[in-house]
Amino acid sequence: MIAKKMVKYVEGSSVTRAMFEEGKKMAAKYGAENVYDFSLGNPSVEPPVAVKNAICEILEKEAPCYVHGYMNNSGYETVRSAIAASLNKRFGTSFGEQNILMTVGAAGGLNVVLKTLLDPEDEVIAFAPYFGEYNNYVANFDGKMVVVSPNPPTFQPDVAEFESKITPKTKAVIVNNPNNPTGVVYREETIRAMAEVMERKQKEYGTAIYLIADEPYRELAYDGVTVPYLTKYYDNTIVGYSYSKSLSLPGERIGYLVIPDEVDDFENVICAANVANRILGFVNAPSLMQLAVAKCLEEQTDVAAYDTNRKMLLDALTEYGYEVVKPEGAFYLWVKTMEEDDMAFVARAKEYNLLVVPGSSFMCPGYVRIAYCVDPEMIKRSLPAFEKLAQSYQ
Ligand code: PLP
Repeated sequence: MIAKKMVKYVEGSSVTRAMFEEGKKMAAKYGAENVYDFSLGNPSVEPPVAVKNAICEILEKEAPCYVHGYMNNSGYETVRSAIAASLNKRFGTSFGEQNILMTVGAAGGLNVVLKTLLDPEDEVIAFAPYFGEYNNYVANFDGKMVVVSPNPPTFQPDVAEFESKITPKTKAVIVNNPNNPTGVVYREETIRAMAEVMERKQKEYGTAIYLIADEPYRELAYDGVTVPYLTKYYDNTIVGYSYSKSLSLPGERIGYLVIPDEVDDFENVICAANVANRILGFVNAPSLMQLAVAKCLEEQTDVAAYDTNRKMLLDALTEYGYEVVKPEGAFYLWVKTMEEDDMAFVARAKEYNLLVVPGSSFMCPGYVRIAYCVDPEMIKRSLPAFEKLAQSYQ
């Protein structure tokens, strides 16, 4: 007797869930050390020790009713101004506490933005391949997802197709940079071209098109590559950030939105986002975690550890004959499947105890995603299996 809309969501989530269950069964059958699970984006690097120290210090020194109590729906003022100051220092922006809204991770932030902006049938554009949950988040508010096709081999957004998909109903565009699942970092020139198109379309239609920058992987960039800060290229940008990956805190559910003064209808947007945060049932972001991350703004995860994994897998898979997109960010490797049907490829990989996610889950069949936020020892053990899988197609 569940809602019809939920039936669809449950069916849609079954691929990942089935893989998770399968992994557990395989570990019991073959031994955990003989199963190579590359399915989940759960950080393998521990949070910096400063996080634990900050939590202990807060619990020791601060008044319990302050640490654990309700606060403004947008979060503690001190935390929001510390984050604004840190962003200003890093990116030359001029945010204040009024521009920051603390959220329950990136997922919470995206739902707050979409609830704030969408009327039923409003269109939201995303660039395939993209994080499949966007479909559910947009459906939560009866929006309509509009997909720009994948653009291999670079997987930079196809700006001409993007332009052709903008209509008077386009309310938002989601950009995820660095990208899950490709690991690609969208280039400054691509961002500039997209901004120019959106400016033009806003004028042509007399509408506001909000750019939502989903940035949980911002700090995970390799080879000195720069990840453009999107508020600097397009006024109508809202940034969603999360500490899930950057401080390895996915279970703690902590992140924030940046809603700059420059966005269209700023006062109403910020006010509605606050209410959305409350009435979606989040009320406010976790209080202890807000205080803890504010003390860790200079901290970083061990990007070098992910980089080592990246190089190990990239080199080995290329040598075995896989066609791999060289990732410059995040912790995912995007690999072309050796047969057209990515689901069949995933099933064959399983025969070698390799668990990877089909590209179809990211609106891009013909590829798989390999999450390398795992123990490097598991990668080493898995390489012969990847080699045998490749050989099975020769
Ligand atoms: N956006 C993207 C692209 C992601 O990959 C994820 C999580 O993996 C999220 C959002 C959700 O992040 P969070 O755990 O901070 O809610």
